[in-house]
Amino acid sequence: MKLRKVTAASAVLLSLSVAATACGGDKKDDKGSSGGGNTITIGIKFDQPGIGQKTPQGYSGFDVDVATYVAKKLGYSSDQIEWKESKSADRETMLKRGDVDFIAASYSITPERQKLVDFAGPYLLAHQDVLVRADDKSIKSAADLNKARLCSVTGSTSAQNIKDTLAPKAQLQKYPTYSACLTGLQNKAIDALTTDDSILAGYASQAQFKGKFKLGGLKMTNENYGIGVKKGSDLKAKINKALESMVSDGSWDAAVKKNFGPANYKNEPAPKIGDIKS
Ligand code: GLU
Repeated sequence: MKLRKVTAASAVLLSLSVAATACGGDKKDDKGSSGGGNTITIGIKFDQPGIGQKTPQGYSGFDVDVATYVAKKLGYSSDQIEWKESKSADRETMLKRGDVDFIAASYSITPERQKLVDFAGPYLLAHQDVLVRADDKSIKSAADLNKARLCSVTGSTSAQNIKDTLAPKAQLQKYPTYSACLTGLQNKAIDALTTDDSILAGYASQAQFKGKFKLGGLKMTNENYGIGVKKGSDLKAKINKALESMVSDGSWDAAVKKNFGPANYKNEPAPKIGDIKS
């Protein structure tokens, strides 16, 4: 009996040390390399249903499926992926510092960002829109936003576009995440949440918001989603190849159906690699 206890205890110790080795601190050694390493670290959003979401069941969304497919082509199975939250304002810094190998996080390709990081893709074309309360009648065009209280996210094209061109006179509040804007929309502290229609559709379809919000359907900009990598990284060409095969083997369509179907989001067709719509 005593012997069995000791054996059980050492088995526990053994399994603990195996687990410790498996998640050891050496995984960062593989940053920037592709294939053959232990793990790959990928930046996604954690709070955007249908795009990138962390739930008690795991990670889900279109970006998660795209990133998982790409990682597989780079030689990493899904259990070799380490997911990291990359909020809109943190993305360039995370890539520069090497915190992540690549980022798939509703990340629009823009000339300003291209000065700091490189992009594979695009792999999705979305459009900036507004989410308003279901009974709203005041916001019918981008011009109406000039009289509205808006919420968007720091470091996003959505906030920048409002200030620069779409509605410079709007009262714009900026939060670190889009989900933070939703409470304000519900309790009437703001009139509209503005960002990509792909993201807004996901929020509108959430069970807790059913019937409460609607999309404006304004299509104010083109948002070309790319996969961000460190400037000069050889991952860009490899990821482009993976994205091409994701479209040609039908996995892209399947991921669209699975992730955007429930939100009833009418997506654009798969973009061609390098075809950035202005
Ligand atoms: N696609 C836009 C951007 O990259 C808005 C969504 C986001 O903030 O992730 O800024």
